[in-house]
Amino acid sequence: MPSGKELGGTRRGGNSKKNAFCSFCRKSYRDVGPLVEGPGDVYICGECIDLCQSILDQERNRRGTSKQLFTRVPSPRDIVAHLDEYVIGQEIAKRVLAVAVHSHYKRLIAAEHESDIEIDKSNILLVGPTGCGKTLLARTLARCLNVPFAIGDATTLTEAGYVGEDVENLLLKLLHAADFDIEAAQRGILYIDEIDKIGKTTRNVSITRDVSGEGVQQALLKMLEGTTANVPPQGGRKHPEQQYIQIDTTHILFICGGTFTGIEETIGKRLGHRTIGFNSSAEGRADRTLSEVLPHVMADDLIEFGMIPELVGRLPVCTALTPLDSDSLIRVLTEPKNALTKQYEHLFAMEDAHLHFTEDALVAIARKAHERETGARGLRSIIENVMLDIMFELPDQTPGRHYEITEDIVEGRSKVCLEDPPQTKSA
Ligand code: ADP
Repeated sequence: MPSGKELGGTRRGGNSKKNAFCSFCRKSYRDVGPLVEGPGDVYICGECIDLCQSILDQERNRRGTSKQLFTRVPSPRDIVAHLDEYVIGQEIAKRVLAVAVHSHYKRLIAAEHESDIEIDKSNILLVGPTGCGKTLLARTLARCLNVPFAIGDATTLTEAGYVGEDVENLLLKLLHAADFDIEAAQRGILYIDEIDKIGKTTRNVSITRDVSGEGVQQALLKMLEGTTANVPPQGGRKHPEQQYIQIDTTHILFICGGTFTGIEETIGKRLGHRTIGFNSSAEGRADRTLSEVLPHVMADDLIEFGMIPELVGRLPVCTALTPLDSDSLIRVLTEPKNALTKQYEHLFAMEDAHLHFTEDALVAIARKAHERETGARGLRSIIENVMLDIMFELPDQTPGRHYEITEDIVEGRSKVCLEDPPQTKSA
């Protein structure tokens, strides 16, 4: 890109032109920061440069110079194989996602070839308790895809007129992921987390309207079913003088995730299950009930939970993730490509030391995480706690030593031995 100097201008500096303003948006130097000066008292601000850049990119893309998005469509089997490397269990959700993403690619190809039959997209809803891998699935999916992928959070959204973000900011994330290639963003995948938090609540204290309730669902609904959204290039709230980037959401695949806490009771009732087991204190009982009941989730349950029927209708593929039991938690600790224990072993290897977790230690860590009821999410903080002292001391230790993490260490009954053995001491 030519510099300001090559354009015949220089970056604005000195004190002489303190009152200079951008010749495009008329904002002053004080408001928008440094200006680039052109010949004859012409200036442009950073915001307008960004906007010009996106207009030029848009035009370039429209003329077909946009980079080829994908050359090979991964098969559902390929996608599941990739997910298996990082995500433990959740087989049904993996299959559902793999098929949906594969169809998404096919749909894009059909749209490119302007075939007669238009394939509808099937947005996806993932229901499952905290820490069972919803976001992880979405993130891992992003890694094996050749389409832009972004993750947003529904809890940051509010209705227009209230403090918070507009739904269009989610699209901005996708635009960022696509390097501001609008054509690419329009074919991307957007994961929206915590979708259950915008449900209408029956316990609403306001009698006039539910802030961040139904209104946000309405706004999301439009985006999900396909609309031309006005996205503010700098994010934040929209305001009248702002310039927008227009994004057509028709071909964007939306994956929504939420915990829908308590929905199992609704499903259980519908299925005619006796619900006394839900609060049962018997160990693992609640989890087992959740694993049995959650896969039966249906649109009606979601509506009863507080989602508006139109939004549920726009998420035709609904799949449930089940809570991870202790065995799965142990697998989460050791099996994924970037498993926590592997990460620590690697950190130790970098310090020329060897680390080993005993079976009992892994069982104890999984047990503790299970007690916290935050799924696999608790594993990291438990391990970090256990490892804190040793990580503090490690760089000062004699290289080549072996460390073993046992159940007693995890339970806090003993500490990792940091003393040098006698023979190395004398060396
Ligand atoms: P949520 O379902 O609440 O979105 P996350 O996907 O964010 O949960 O999970 C939090 C962390 O727990 C992840 O970063 C990952 O390390 C771990 N984790 C959760 N579920 C799994 C799983 N099924 N397989 C492997 N790791 C998992």
